[in-house]
Formats: sequence, C-alpha cells, structure tokens
Amino acid sequence: MNGVYMVVGVVFVAWFVGGIIRRKQHKNKIIQVSDNDCIGCGRCVKRCNHHVLALMHDGKCNHLVIRNPDKCTGCGDCIGKCKFNALKLVEKNKNHH
Ligand code: SF4
Ligand code: SF4
Repeated sequence: MNGVYMVVGVVFVAWFVGGIIRRKQHKNKIIQVSDNDCIGCGRCVKRCNHHVLALMHDGKCNHLVIRNPDKCTGCGDCIGKCKFNALKLVEKNKNHH
C-alpha cells in the first residue's frame, strides 16, 4: 500500500514541478497578431482574462490590437480561440525590437 502512495506522490510532485517550469517558460513569451490573418472577430479578446487584447474600428473594419502587452502572461488561451491562425507567442525581447 505504501508503494501506491509513493507512486501517487511522485506523480504529483512531477506534475507540480512541471507546472512551475511551464509557467516560467511562458513568462518570456508575449502574444503577437498577424494582421493579414486576423478578421477582427474578437473571440480572442473575450477569452483573455488579462485584458491584453482589444478591437479597434478604423471606420471600415475591426482590427485586433495588443493594448496591454505588459499584462500578457503568455498563457496562450487566446490562441486556442482563434480559427484563423492569427495569433502566436513570441519571445518578449524579439517582439520589442
Ligand atoms: S497569451 Fe494569455 S494573457 Fe496573453 S493575450 Fe493571450 S490570453 Fe491574454
Ligand atoms: S480570434 Fe483570431 S481572427 Fe478573431 S480577433 Fe482574435 S486574432 Fe483576430
């Protein structure tokens, strides 16, 4: 029985530590939008809990803008909502050049 507890414990610790590493990896990432692919549907805007994304209307159509880049956690939640492959995570430093 102790063996079972040990296996459960090891799996839990591996999952927990893995989660920390995954978060750390994403900390240096920031969202980037490809204007050519984005149709301005706004699905990603609603999904982002950190209010990073916003839609701007230029008189003709909606454009996605990254309004609060500093608040982006690199979680990637918005990417899953985009049906047009318009979003990707990039290294923070490269994006700021
Ligand atoms: S990666 Fe996460 S925090 Fe950044 S814009 Fe997308 S949903 Fe928001
Ligand atoms: S979900 Fe995709 S297409 Fe829609 S606004 Fe966001 S980036 Fe643009």
